[in-house]
Amino acid sequence: MARKLAKSTLDRFQKRLEAEKTRLEELIEEYERELEVARLTESSSDRSPDPGNAEASSMKMEYAKELSIEQNTADLLSKVDHALGRVASGDYGICESCGKSIPIERLDVLPYSTLCVDCASKSS
Ligand SMILES: [Zn+2]
Repeated sequence: MARKLAKSTLDRFQKRLEAEKTRLEELIEEYERELEVARLTESSSDRSPDPGNAEASSMKMEYAKELSIEQNTADLLSKVDHALGRVASGDYGICESCGKSIPIERLDVLPYSTLCVDCASKSS
């Protein structure tokens, strides 16, 4: 039977998750601003006679990198949101797959984790 986390422990993780959520949302906003700048720069370089030049291609790589970072951050944000939902429903700290308790040490490292080590390693 899964043990319930103490209220004080739950509060501590909730605070960490909320802080993480704020940080990720700020990061995403920042990426979006940078991407907007990259888009503007790209369209202003249309007059370049050679669109395949090294500078343009390195900018495209930069742009792709930013996009993938933003995607990772968005993924993480959705995990954090999901974990916060589990806090609200009282299921935080219980593996979503097998229903066993997730060790506190794991939650300390990955507060947004909603799977125990066994289930997480099976699903990946
Ligand atoms: Zn599990």
